[in-house]
Amino acid sequence: METLQAVRGMNDILPDQVGWWQRVERTAREVLENFGYREIRTPVVEKLDLFSRGIGENTDVVEKEMYAFEDRSGDWIALRPEVTASIARSYIQHKLYADPTLQKFYAIGPMFRHERPQKGRYRQFHQIDAEVFGIDSPMIDAEIMHMLRIFLEKVGISGVTLHINTLGCPECRKVYREVLKRYLTDKGDEFCPDCMRRRETNPLRVFDCKVERCQAFLDGAPALIEYICNDCRTHFDAVMEMLDKLGTPYVVDPKIVRGLDYYMRTTFEVVTDRLGSQNAVGGGGRYNGLVQDLGGPEVPGIGFAIGMERLIMLLQQEQQAAVQAPDAFIAAVGEHARTGAFLLLQQMRAHGLEVEMEFESRSLKSQMRRADKLGPRFVFILGEDEINRGEIQLRDMQEKTQQVLPLDTAALTLSQMIGKNSPEPVCSEPGQCGCAAQGGSGTVSQE
Ligand code: AMP
Repeated sequence: METLQAVRGMNDILPDQVGWWQRVERTAREVLENFGYREIRTPVVEKLDLFSRGIGENTDVVEKEMYAFEDRSGDWIALRPEVTASIARSYIQHKLYADPTLQKFYAIGPMFRHERPQKGRYRQFHQIDAEVFGIDSPMIDAEIMHMLRIFLEKVGISGVTLHINTLGCPECRKVYREVLKRYLTDKGDEFCPDCMRRRETNPLRVFDCKVERCQAFLDGAPALIEYICNDCRTHFDAVMEMLDKLGTPYVVDPKIVRGLDYYMRTTFEVVTDRLGSQNAVGGGGRYNGLVQDLGGPEVPGIGFAIGMERLIMLLQQEQQAAVQAPDAFIAAVGEHARTGAFLLLQQMRAHGLEVEMEFESRSLKSQMRRADKLGPRFVFILGEDEINRGEIQLRDMQEKTQQVLPLDTAALTLSQMIGKNSPEPVCSEPGQCGCAAQGGSGTVSQE
């Protein structure tokens, strides 16, 4: 029988990799919440209309990449290709704009785009997304990019550059659109078929084209920044001034136009030169018209999304494997000792410690081999002699030292040694393991 495989472009995240993901998510939550963002979780499926209205009909994401289908009730729905539109929909639906304390949101989760899979590009991928509603000040534009930089630093990414640009407002873009269209038309008909079409429908989108020939035509194209109105210019200048004051480095890059229709004014991308053609790690921008376009009040917005797969690929290039070793391993020799070890294991877990032991009867040598593989710093050894004396041996594999400890305080000693003192250890008989325990699992037999 043919073995079943995951859908192309959709990947399992296996236990030996998941540590990276947890670390990135933990750091993201820490940083985002420090900046006042609150988590929001929206469905992965939305009405198709949300994306065609929210993202734009003439975008690659909507035209070519969306997983859209008719469900059994005949409703057109889609797997979310990004989450900004979903957050805006939820913000409107639940009238979150009525609560002045709720302006900053974040979401972490899978997105779906039917692109051609390659390294760094998948059909199910994951984003960390941050959105701010209701603040028009250039200060928030600078702050959100500054926060992105702090996050990347905290998570341990170096060697990425922040590229920023302004797309102006719909008014100044109207003027520029015509200028760009003329420029592209003057270049003749050598563009790819997509760009020939984009030139007519949405000329700015030509900047997003991956075809080298089309990109070559764009060298020397008029820059949008030359056509922006005074208000947009003032906004952009203030954003740059604020970034300078915050010490967040950036380069102004007129080619950052972003693939989605709703962007205006500030746009930005975090770019690396270490992931081949998939060089964008994250990006975002301001989208003042989106909430209104989706039927909500006139509320400005700004946000970004970071691609987790690309971020983790970069991290893995830079750092050693995120080894997830347990805190300790207990090796026990003899039936009686094994039961004692099992109860000690539960006590240690009640202290919040991650501890492993061998459940089958195995030689000490084979248990030590397993401990070696798991890689904990501490190994406890419990034999029949030790248990009869109410003692246990503790080996510190890092310091290469060994000592004998009283068995009944071993869990507490370990938690103190590695600074993981659970606030309320759970033991059935307080006093037995040396902790101020409040009821729970078991104690070590010492007969
Ligand atoms: P976008 O919503 O297109 O601006 O994408 C934001 C970020 O999500 C990008 O910078 C990438 O890191 C990531 N991303 C977008 N599409 C994919 C994909 N198909 N596979 C993996 N990551 C992606």
